[in-house]
Amino acid sequence: EGKSTHSQTDVLIIGAGPSGLMAAYWMARCGVNARIIDNRDTKVFLGHADGLRARTLELFDSMGFQHRVLQEGSISTEANIWVPGPQGKLVRQAQIDIFKVDESPFHNTRLNQGRIERFILDSIREHSDLDVERSVIADSLEYDEELGNDPNSYPITVKVRVLGEDDLNRPRGQEIDTESEAAGNEVNRSNLLPDDWADLAPRNKPQKTQVETIKAKYLIGCDGAHSWTRKQLNIPVEGSNTDHIWGVIDVIPLSDFPDIRRVSVVNNAAGTILVIPRERGLVRFYVPVQTCEAGTTDRFDRSKITPELIRERVQAIFAPFTFDFKECSWWTVYQVGQRIATKSTKDNRVFLAGDAVHTHSPKMGLGMNMSMQDGFNVGWKIALAVAGTLKPEILDTYASERHPLAEMLLDFDRHWSPMFTDRKPGVADTKASDIALVAGKFEDFADGWKVFYPASSLVRKAEDNAEFAFARHMIPGERVRPVKLRNHADGGTRWTTRALESDGRFRILVLAGDIRNPMQKQRIEALSQALAGQTGSGISPLGRYLEIPGRFKSPIDVLTIHTSPWKEVEFFDFPEVLRLFDPVNGWAYDKIWCDDACLFDRYCDGTAYEKWGVDRVLGALVVVRPDQYIGWVGELGDVEELTQYLDGILVKKSPIDEVA
Ligand code: FAD
Repeated sequence: EGKSTHSQTDVLIIGAGPSGLMAAYWMARCGVNARIIDNRDTKVFLGHADGLRARTLELFDSMGFQHRVLQEGSISTEANIWVPGPQGKLVRQAQIDIFKVDESPFHNTRLNQGRIERFILDSIREHSDLDVERSVIADSLEYDEELGNDPNSYPITVKVRVLGEDDLNRPRGQEIDTESEAAGNEVNRSNLLPDDWADLAPRNKPQKTQVETIKAKYLIGCDGAHSWTRKQLNIPVEGSNTDHIWGVIDVIPLSDFPDIRRVSVVNNAAGTILVIPRERGLVRFYVPVQTCEAGTTDRFDRSKITPELIRERVQAIFAPFTFDFKECSWWTVYQVGQRIATKSTKDNRVFLAGDAVHTHSPKMGLGMNMSMQDGFNVGWKIALAVAGTLKPEILDTYASERHPLAEMLLDFDRHWSPMFTDRKPGVADTKASDIALVAGKFEDFADGWKVFYPASSLVRKAEDNAEFAFARHMIPGERVRPVKLRNHADGGTRWTTRALESDGRFRILVLAGDIRNPMQKQRIEALSQALAGQTGSGISPLGRYLEIPGRFKSPIDVLTIHTSPWKEVEFFDFPEVLRLFDPVNGWAYDKIWCDDACLFDRYCDGTAYEKWGVDRVLGALVVVRPDQYIGWVGELGDVEELTQYLDGILVKKSPIDEVA
């Protein structure tokens, strides 16, 4: 082996799949000293996960690349159930809507994991020099518990192998998904978009494999279902493999089945398949190919399953409709495992996210979504803790917010997965009503609209979990329900998902109500004075906390949303602290928004306050966390309470810093 080196980083992320990349996004946004390694030679290009739920798309909007998903992805708004009719011929039994008007600007969309990874990688590059180090394998982990209490210490030591040219005989396909590539999923320029071409060839490797010892303050194990990090920490997993084995093919179908471009479940005596339309004319088929022998859930002999066998299974289930393909972009075979790690952190210094914590059947399209949302949740917290802005004890909330959701996910899957398992001949024919029932029960959770983050220093709930009277539908622990607003300065419209940009800052939403009302105008003046530190104690919540170094002077941004008709008030009617002046960039025109209907954009219909349950004259005050979840709700006069809430989360400047 080649030379051995030592180095130090604040955050080490192991695994550059969807969860690792989401965590890395925050390191890039907040300017944190971080590294991300992956044992694969290249990124994922084809196949793998493909279903994007609305909440994930909202996150992408806040990260700035949702438009790329919209351009390339395939949207589905209903699911169709097909069963044998009276003469035995397949008939469409039900069409179930899988969208909700008004809940989100986005709908269930499908696009392969490789493209999603492309977009996150590009976004990371846009904001920093952070790049995935590929062909790097984490080999040993030591954690020094005694150092764990000192936030500035480096209690984690990871030895990694940086694979060299001499490493040609590395065993492939054990813990990493190279099996499917080996099984004939050829990746070449012709099946990729040009912006992926540069990643096709593995990077230059050193001549000889090298060993590097990395010391880190924090470690995030995003290393997938067989998580190496989890094993090093001896964190047990609960659950098991199921006995169902599925084939998956992504093909351009040649078929006369009427719903071939619509999400469908086809259920007949020969079995059940899932039809999932995709980008670029592709359709994915999930096909049961085998069950383990009765009473066993042992791993199966994968070599017996081929694309030809999967093709024959689809033909048998589709009959008398036709099915064939010439183009197969990707295929694989998998056994469904339903497992959950018992813990997702060690001392709030080492964290697990994504498949490392939970695995389940991929058919409900939640694996990648939940994994990305895990990475998103832990990422901003660690980034701000390392930046010195966030109190380290807030890291407790990663486990308290995400682990119960992992449990719900498994519960969901236990209900959902059996709906699609192989039907035995002669068993009662339809499962449509069951599918609709289970889908309905878990819909809000699956789409990410209800996440139930519990009370904590980050989430200040009302007593007895009651609503806050002045903002009835702004529920702490839930996301801000997206609405479209009109920018006061230029009159253009924007969804809140984009306006609440994921840049690392907490946001105070000043729901200013109608400032044509003189009393209300006065309340806004008083609030602004308090925000500027011109009243009482003279402390401004905006200048009170440590900066995000190299990024923002204050970890708090203020956004004002009023209800006065757009043409009846002026930008300069709002106090200066709400539209701060910058000597280079001028007035902050993107800080004042209006909840007023506008003719050219029917989504901007002046119903934001109604959807949020806020009085159009009196308004309210809301704090939104960097991940757009609501943290605190109050009235416009409650600046002291607001400051108390923030004091529990953010690190205050020392008196010397405050003067500076
Ligand atoms: P992963 O995407 O598994 O990423 C983990 C990364 O860590 C990998 O790149 C791995 O190479 C790396 N790694 C592991 N160990 C080490 C180590 N010691 N050192 C360095 N790097 C390491 N979900 C669906 O919803 N629908 C599907 O159709 C679907 N199909 C799938 C097919 C396959 C073959 C696989 C593997 C997964 C599929 N999934 C599917 C699941 C979905 O891809 C996952 O839920 C999602 O990718 C989880 O993201 P993650 O970042 O947590 O883990």
